[in-house]
Amino acid sequence: MSSTALTKRVAVIGGGILGVSTAVHLLRGGASVVLLTEAGLASEASGRSLSWLNSAGERSTPYHLLRLAGVDRYRTLFAADPSREWLQFGGGLMWNAAGEKAVTEARHAYEKSVGYDSKLLEPAEIAAVTPGIDAGAVPENAIFNPGEGWVSLPDLVDYLMEEFHARGGELVLNAGKASVMVDGGRATGVETAAGETFDADAVLVACGAATPAVVAPLGVEIPNGSPVSMLVVTKPVEHKVAAVMNTPRAAIRPNPGSTFALDHDWYEGSIREHADGTFSIPEDVVQALADEASKLIGGNPELKPASWKIGYKPIPGDGEPVFGELGQAPGCFVAFTHSGATLGLIAGELLAGEILTGNRHPMLATFRPGRFS
Ligand SMILES: Cc1cc2nc3c(=O)[nH]c(=O)nc-3n(C[C@H](O)[C@H](O)[C@H](O)COP(=O)(O)OP(=O)(O)OC[C@H]3O[C@@H](n4cnc5c(N)ncnc54)[C@H](O)[C@@H]3O)c2cc1C
Repeated sequence: MSSTALTKRVAVIGGGILGVSTAVHLLRGGASVVLLTEAGLASEASGRSLSWLNSAGERSTPYHLLRLAGVDRYRTLFAADPSREWLQFGGGLMWNAAGEKAVTEARHAYEKSVGYDSKLLEPAEIAAVTPGIDAGAVPENAIFNPGEGWVSLPDLVDYLMEEFHARGGELVLNAGKASVMVDGGRATGVETAAGETFDADAVLVACGAATPAVVAPLGVEIPNGSPVSMLVVTKPVEHKVAAVMNTPRAAIRPNPGSTFALDHDWYEGSIREHADGTFSIPEDVVQALADEASKLIGGNPELKPASWKIGYKPIPGDGEPVFGELGQAPGCFVAFTHSGATLGLIAGELLAGEILTGNRHPMLATFRPGRFS
């Protein structure tokens, strides 16, 4: 690390997994870091994410490789302490609706072709590879991906923040809608909604679904495809499920405290946005999702929703991640992506490296914000 890097002052906007992970990697690299966020930590998507760690299905090769590296970093963290209740690798199980047997077979064939561990199973074969599933819910066939896992992002953020504080990071909560300061075309720091300013050599905007709005005043256009979504956490229930399940009517994963986290998209039309920017959904729709999830679990235990959170799921307009420095405002970097749980650790590592050294990492080459200019 050069002496310039050691003295670099970086301001990070956004207390979700991408901001927190990058901040910690910057501190590890010797930077001085101030992390500012609108309200609390993990208050948006990172506080209501299914956080299935995977690169299943088909996507661009650079995105696939980045996701594999993302899962790799979680495996390293897992290996250091496999007993953590908030990070587990119990594999992933998916199936499609009745009549889509060939679609599942094609997905499995594709996954095999790129070397992704993928097992095509008859319902009767499921119990031998993963426990706690009601195989009667599987209409034809299923895919088991043994290398996948899940993380509880609020717990990961807490874990990373311990290191953030130990390394002397400065945290500013309740900063309101902060903005990037620019002087002579270059980013020079961050201003909070109340007008407090923080000078910096570099700024990272990691504001989730709000990222395009935060960089728009800099003359940067990033298309925003973020939909509204919901995550439900159930009350505790006895179960043996270890895998993340993605099925036609419910996605479900184990969650700390013997609870489950549930999501899907069929009920998005039932979500209402209010004038104050909050969202609501009828309680019977939340219970209907819990009932769908119950059908997937051995013994079909009654699932009772304990809490549900609704808000935007960050997705760039073209579906691919947006990582790197803005051509229009040198010194200002962005991190805006779908699958930010899978990418949380690797994106923070690679972006911190770019911010500290100025060297562009080849794995981020196709994800630059300049592609929209
Ligand atoms: C329902 C759901 C399911 C998901 N499932 C998966 C999955 O299975 N696998 C996977 O890999 N990913 C999944 N994701 C995606 C993943 O959770 C997100 O990509 C990730 O959490 C985004 O983190 P972030 O740090 O970019 O944004 P966020 O967590 O949204 O954090 C952004 C932060 O910036 C703050 N902020 C915004 N604007 C400003 C401003 N102007 N000033 C100050 N602060 C500001 C916000 O308050 C927030 O705290 C899912 C997401 C959702 C919602």
